[in-house]
Amino acid sequence: MTLRPIVTLPDPVLRRKARVVTAFDNKLQTLIDDMIETMRDAPGVGLAAPQVGLAERVIVVEYFEHEPKDEEEEAEQELKKKVWAMLNPEIVKTSAEKVMGVEGCLSIPGLVGEVERFEAIQVRGLNRRGQPMRVKAQGWLARIFQHEIDHLNGVLFTDIATHVWKPEENETEPENEV
Ligand code: ZN
Repeated sequence: MTLRPIVTLPDPVLRRKARVVTAFDNKLQTLIDDMIETMRDAPGVGLAAPQVGLAERVIVVEYFEHEPKDEEEEAEQELKKKVWAMLNPEIVKTSAEKVMGVEGCLSIPGLVGEVERFEAIQVRGLNRRGQPMRVKAQGWLARIFQHEIDHLNGVLFTDIATHVWKPEENETEPENEV
């Protein structure tokens, strides 16, 4: 596995509509492994292929499958974080409820913004072997998927944030970085 450089604005690849993945070859497997390693190294909780310079519909996410209720539960669950690699993801169901949250992006260093997202979603796509998969996500996990799928359409959080600001030092946490 190799760390890949994370591209940042104003790189035009971040604004392109990414291509549908149709080949499930070794090159794709290497890309997915590299993206997972790059996401962990950043550190972040999600990464989309355009963020490593490739306009392809590939995302990786690493987070709690079920959101911890408090810090104690988070510490217990730290080892239970799950990794998803998903190709051609599509949101097929959304909750009526929307929630605000503060997001950052590894491709837009030094800025955070308040973004409204669906509280829960269902995502359909393919796993790394090309088989259909479906994810039901709620809370922060749902936010991460929405942020990453936006990347595949050239949409950045700064486009849809109600406001954007430069955080104080220590204000950003790894879980905000996607
Ligand atoms: Zn991002």
